[in-house]
Amino acid sequence: MSEGGIVIVGGGLAGARVAEGARAAGYDGPVRIVAAEDAMPYIRPPLSKEFLAGTGSRDDLDVHPAEWYAEQRVEVLRGVRATGLDVRAHRVRLDDGRDLAWDRLLLATGSTPRRWPGAGADLEGVHLLRTIGDSLALRALFEPGGRSIVLIGAGWIGLEVAAAARGYGNEVTVVAPEAVPLEAAIGPAAGEVFARLHRDDGVDLRLSTKVAGIAGEEGRAIGVALEGGEVVPADAVIVGIGAVPITGLAEAAGIEVGNGITTDAGFRTSEPDTYAAGDVANVYQPFLGAHLRTEHWATAEHHGLAAGRSIAGEAVEFDEPPYFYTDQYDLGMEFSGYGPLMTGVQPVFRGDVPGREFIAFWVADERVVAGMNVNVWDVNEQVQQLISSRVRVDAARLVDPGVPLEALLAGAGA
Ligand SMILES: Cc1cc2nc3c(=O)[nH]c(=O)nc-3n(C[C@H](O)[C@H](O)[C@H](O)COP(=O)(O)OP(=O)(O)OC[C@H]3O[C@@H](n4cnc5c(N)ncnc54)[C@H](O)[C@@H]3O)c2cc1C
Repeated sequence: MSEGGIVIVGGGLAGARVAEGARAAGYDGPVRIVAAEDAMPYIRPPLSKEFLAGTGSRDDLDVHPAEWYAEQRVEVLRGVRATGLDVRAHRVRLDDGRDLAWDRLLLATGSTPRRWPGAGADLEGVHLLRTIGDSLALRALFEPGGRSIVLIGAGWIGLEVAAAARGYGNEVTVVAPEAVPLEAAIGPAAGEVFARLHRDDGVDLRLSTKVAGIAGEEGRAIGVALEGGEVVPADAVIVGIGAVPITGLAEAAGIEVGNGITTDAGFRTSEPDTYAAGDVANVYQPFLGAHLRTEHWATAEHHGLAAGRSIAGEAVEFDEPPYFYTDQYDLGMEFSGYGPLMTGVQPVFRGDVPGREFIAFWVADERVVAGMNVNVWDVNEQVQQLISSRVRVDAARLVDPGVPLEALLAGAGA
């Protein structure tokens, strides 16, 4: 490669791990990360959990200590946005006027929270959560306690923020159109566990309820208007209705985009020398025989390291099952599996569901396609092996806590 080396657009977890993966694979040329945020790469999960709750520190967020970048000769251009891409000429334009040459380019631009699409989105007191600044603003809002907080959306972020807000002693209402929280992610039976968890802690869950708009007075949000006319009073409104991949740069450059930037299992996009990883990448996974895009911390982590090796010239075929975790109140959960294979599948439960200590399995054609362990630890590796090995399982044995998971794996690989 020439002087241009590797340029990574996006200074989040995936971008930082790409740099690490490339160096680990022995790539010795220049590595530059163009990072729109004025921060060294950091992780986001604590922003709705321990950092928001005030129990986690700022240092815990950094992907690498500051000295790592100097040691590894990885230059981070902080507070600089890539604004244009010429894949033929191998150049990327930056908003500070610079124009960088590259030999290989990796897009790790992540995703951005969906804004409230209706009335009131721009009122003061309406919040989204993506950055450290967003989390600090919410923390300042929650800390005094006694406030009325309304969350629009009952997905992971909405529920985690609800738990944090309750932790500071605020009144919390969650409004969402689905009948059960997290229905889209884990289905109604497993979602019900989270509904009970939040109700037990005093959250007012308004499910099967549509929002008509965010009500305001003198430019400030004062409540959330529901379809039907009721207005739930709010000192602050937090919108957690999902995220969209940041694909504008790729699209304008003629790179194939469809639910994120389309790549092969080695993270190559439709254009030569151009790669994508993390939230923004829709990566071909041989296990599925299809492309998959997820917005998970572990995906950014694993994509990043593997894409770094790929970009450095190693042969890479990425095929890890997606992994996700959450912490809410005293519930900790890990999930592994393939969402597309869970459609229409009802989970079976192993353990104590009312006591919130169990593993849920989604089984299709006698094979585990996803598993979720709740307050049960050190089993995720076996759950992932059950999925990846495609071993046939007997459902009665799977749900029997007396049968070790290793025993179910005994036939795998045979
Ligand atoms: C509050 C919160 C809690 C979460 N909790 C969990 C969890 O518990 N478990 C889990 O698995 N996942 C969780 N996630 C998801 C996880 O954080 C993401 O999947 C992960 O951050 C994706 O990493 P990424 O590097 O692909 O993207 P990002 O972290 O979004 O980083 C992309 C970066 O690129 C920058 N960028 C975009 N466009 C440009 C440009 N043109 N030029 C330069 N820079 C650009 C962005 O500003 C951003 O800094 C959470 C996310 C949030 C927001």
